[in-house]
Amino acid sequence: MDSCLGIEENSNHILEKDTMLSSLVDMGYLVEEALTAMNNCGSEAQLSELTDYICAAQMVKDFDAQLRESPDEEDSTSVMTSYSYTMPRNDYLAREKKRKLHKFQQFGRKWHKGSEKKHWDEDGDIMHLPNPMIGFGIPDDPWPIVERKLPEVAIGPPYFYYENVALTPKGAWSKISRFLYDIEPEFVDSTHFSAAARKRGYVHNLPIQNRFPLLPIPPRTIQEALPLTNKWWPLWDKRTKLNCLQTVIGSAKLTERIRNALENNEKYGDEPPPHVQKFVFEQCRKWNLVWVGKNKVAPLEPDEMEMLLGFPRDHTRGGGISRTDRYKALGNSFQVDTVAYHLSVLKNQFPNGINILSLFSGIGGAEVALHRLGIPLKNVVSVEIAEVNRNIIRSWWEQTNQRGQLIEIADVQQVSIERLDQWISSFGGFDLVIGGSPCNNLAGSNRRLKRSLLWNKGMEVPRIGLGGGLALLWQDHIDLMVLIQDPYRIDALLLQERILWRFTDFYGHRET
Ligand code: SAH
Repeated sequence: MDSCLGIEENSNHILEKDTMLSSLVDMGYLVEEALTAMNNCGSEAQLSELTDYICAAQMVKDFDAQLRESPDEEDSTSVMTSYSYTMPRNDYLAREKKRKLHKFQQFGRKWHKGSEKKHWDEDGDIMHLPNPMIGFGIPDDPWPIVERKLPEVAIGPPYFYYENVALTPKGAWSKISRFLYDIEPEFVDSTHFSAAARKRGYVHNLPIQNRFPLLPIPPRTIQEALPLTNKWWPLWDKRTKLNCLQTVIGSAKLTERIRNALENNEKYGDEPPPHVQKFVFEQCRKWNLVWVGKNKVAPLEPDEMEMLLGFPRDHTRGGGISRTDRYKALGNSFQVDTVAYHLSVLKNQFPNGINILSLFSGIGGAEVALHRLGIPLKNVVSVEIAEVNRNIIRSWWEQTNQRGQLIEIADVQQVSIERLDQWISSFGGFDLVIGGSPCNNLAGSNRRLKRSLLWNKGMEVPRIGLGGGLALLWQDHIDLMVLIQDPYRIDALLLQERILWRFTDFYGHRET
């Protein structure tokens, strides 16, 4: 019996691996990429984690290729200007250690085995992520980090906030950081803010003192977030948190298989036999299935995902948006409470409102977060390629009676230097540039083209005197990417056929 169970488990496992592999191949990934991702992310990894991993691996490859092609790195006219700043990593680690020690003493908590490792180094094939993944602190953290040393040149405003999936292949994060003044990413899992996981890294130059959470504090367990499921939740399904919300949901066929497995085993008593429990539990975990009736599990509804992600109810509903589009957009979006916690420090600094350049806006996680924090949105340049998503942001903008100006741009490739220049002169510059990598959308038949949209080039606008600037974002087909300015100076770079143009201008003082 035992061995039989063993064989069954084993063959289940092989079957699952095969299914995962063929799903990835169907999505257009190469078998080798899929296998590497599966090996590195482990057998528990969800499809979205694997696609994120592959996407990040491609990004690293593109980076490397680009770096190899780029002219002398030390040359200030090359795509990458020099990075003289060395990150105070030792300071950071020492503080981390101290903080963990304090926590350990206070609560007698045992720290996860890997938690004392440097967490974004490049040892091994995959990075060691911190555990618990709470970044510089979470709302009920008695010992948050409230200070960090940023290089002079990166101290804002203007602020930037760059998000990416936490789990990336070797070297990806250090490469991303390298384009952003070597600032250490803040790794946070949204389980600390909501009932669903979302492991992300954020590289930003925001202050980290006096953060505050959005109110009301959202439910942090499945049982609180989805109370109607409690009645049907079996005792042997011990989940209290959902996994990362994904762009795709479990199929009706799967939920039917689960129901059949449970019904066929009812004769064995109150509880299904262990191998059935294990199968059901694993599938539920993998696909975020919740209990909606006797022996009946179901994927989350889009409105439940909206709630778990901190969006207003019906944010993505109606106006011609399909369920598939809703899932896709929600699966890619920010977790609003998490991002809002980081952005909350801007509230006192911008009482009269904020100008933002929102890149790859999706369904407007950043805009919703700022609005929910009570930070007035003055001018928002929102760059988002999917029409459905732009419609969602526009409806939300109208429904929330925003007084500012929403400027919608469909494609990041349309963000020309002239346009940036115009916006800057008309409203006095951006206070915040915010964006997440459009990685998740790269799967699919048109992958080659989509791949080209990866940010695989980077450049930096160094500060001159009092001036400031930042640039990030890199893409193959785009001649230019971003700039920011300080209150008095506009400083932009344009990269065109490997020639770097630079121009500087003055627009006088900006009122804050
Ligand atoms: N942070 C966002 C989601 C980011 S997902 C939120 O809170 O919803 C990345 C987004 O980038 C997707 O919505 C995708 O449609 C968009 N995107 C991909 N390529 C793009 C391009 N070339 N120009 C503009 N947007 C693009």
